[in-house]
Amino acid sequence: MILIDGKKIAADIRSEIRIQIDEKLKQGGKIPHLAAILVGDDGASETYVNLKMKACIEVGMKSSLIRKPDSITEDELLDEVHALNENRDIDGFIVQVPLPKHISEQKVIEAIDPAKDVDGFHPVNVGRMVQGIESFTPATPTGIMELISRYKIETSGKNCVIIGRSNIVGTPMALMLSRKGYPGNCTVTICHSRTENLKEITKQADILIPALGRPGFLTADMVKEGAVIIDVGTTRVTSTETKSGFRLKGDVAFDEVAEKCSYITPVPGGVGPMTIATLIKNTLKASFGK
Ligand code: NAP
Repeated sequence: MILIDGKKIAADIRSEIRIQIDEKLKQGGKIPHLAAILVGDDGASETYVNLKMKACIEVGMKSSLIRKPDSITEDELLDEVHALNENRDIDGFIVQVPLPKHISEQKVIEAIDPAKDVDGFHPVNVGRMVQGIESFTPATPTGIMELISRYKIETSGKNCVIIGRSNIVGTPMALMLSRKGYPGNCTVTICHSRTENLKEITKQADILIPALGRPGFLTADMVKEGAVIIDVGTTRVTSTETKSGFRLKGDVAFDEVAEKCSYITPVPGGVGPMTIATLIKNTLKASFGK
């Protein structure tokens, strides 16, 4: 079994980005600048945004964190989005989700200028991705493609099963892996909460990507011998072993599945760091030509 080291690959990508930024600056370009809007004080969101801001500093990018209280109205948040759209120094920005219930995430996503939508969630970017046109693509599945490619995992003709059909992970992942080329050319099945006989389906998978957010859901009896396992799940569970009182748990029952598979990503240290590295890469891309 090979443990896929997302932490190391993400560090490699950040080094590559740093070199590209240095080169860009030498040629008189501007420092790329990522902004993030964080609404409320959700602990998990706070952690994710801080990691994104930290990654910017590490590669030599500018970052701005805009904090807003839970009580912000939808119109006020849309005004913030419009201001960032207009701000010429900001190359890309994200609005950290989840948002409070009284705000429509869809409205907020659609208000973002697609040219600054480094999360790749705007319908224009999603539509371009579906048609295989250059666009910002969602960070998590894009990061997984990078992991597969850097570990040279064979994908052509393979059965790939994805558990989860969200707009940010499952659905774009299915698209990317079914596309012509490498990584791709997979025969993809998307499973979800209404899927019948899930175990029979997952046991057919050469590449199995659980992205449902149920800690330890994927057990050894659901996995074919020699399968590649990419664990997207990150659920924050309470822990007495960490300073914060929390730790992240994946969707895979790691110890028992690891014995059976050919490759596996750990949680933490697998997909998560790749998501952040891809966001930073998208921000650099948004700054090209400036
Ligand atoms: P989501 O929007 O809640 O989607 C979960 C999906 O799982 C849904 O499609 C749901 O089906 C399906 N599902 C739920 N229970 C199921 C079950 N028992 N059997 C089969 N399918 C089931 O979640 P998400 O935003 O895609 O995130 C999924 C997980 O990935 C979460 O743990 C999240 O924290 C993690 N995540 C990690 C990263 C990272 O960087 N590592 C990034 C993004 C997300 P229905 O559609 O039928 O409801």
